[in-house]
Amino acid sequence: MSVSEVTQALIKCVNFAAEKHKDQRRKNPEKTPYINHPIGVAYILTNEANVTDLNILQAALLHDTVEDTETSFDEIEVAFGSEVRKIVEEVTDDKTLAKEVRKRLQIEHAPGSSYEAKLVKLADKLYNLRDLEISAPVGWSEQRVNEYFEWSKKVVEGLRGTNSALERSLDQIFLRRNILT
Ligand code: NDP
Ligand code: ZN
Repeated sequence: MSVSEVTQALIKCVNFAAEKHKDQRRKNPEKTPYINHPIGVAYILTNEANVTDLNILQAALLHDTVEDTETSFDEIEVAFGSEVRKIVEEVTDDKTLAKEVRKRLQIEHAPGSSYEAKLVKLADKLYNLRDLEISAPVGWSEQRVNEYFEWSKKVVEGLRGTNSALERSLDQIFLRRNILT
């Protein structure tokens, strides 16, 4: 693929994600536009993890589209190919399952995920925990915030050995929260 083809593919993907998430907001008190999150996850991958693989970056941009918007895996495959579809599938929770089950499955599935999916998951967790360090989502008690950090640590344990820069940043966050196990 030429540089212009890669550029076109990335902008097509940013635009697709922005259209899909256009009516969504983050849970912070400022209600930041949701699209800041997938773009930020992709930026963590290029800027901090040194990832330049197009499929991984597209999957990062699209990682919450199926879970949170009216988007199908088929639609993603048609627009971005089967490799991107596979990664997005791996990082998408099955919303027909109860929340507690989904949380448990994230912990259980983490170690067996592909390298590509592990990278997206690490960057996703890092972004969300940084958000939580800035401010708690509206309506969240301190206990709920703590539980989220503890659960994230368990998921991250299953993603280790993938990218040292991301794992180091996550470890610093867990250390700051005094989560040692
Ligand atoms: P949710 O899954 O409802 O919310 C967390 C998700 O919201 C993140 O993973 C992220 O997902 C998204 N998100 C949007 N905005 C933000 C933001 N500003 N900061 C961080 N994340 C944001 O929460 P959980 O159900 O996971 O609850 C966390 C923990 O709390 C769980 O372990 C659960 O057991 C517990 N809990 C406690 C309750 C209590 O009252 N004590 C009640 C319910 C749960 P994405 O990347 O997809 O955007
Ligand atoms: Zn996400």
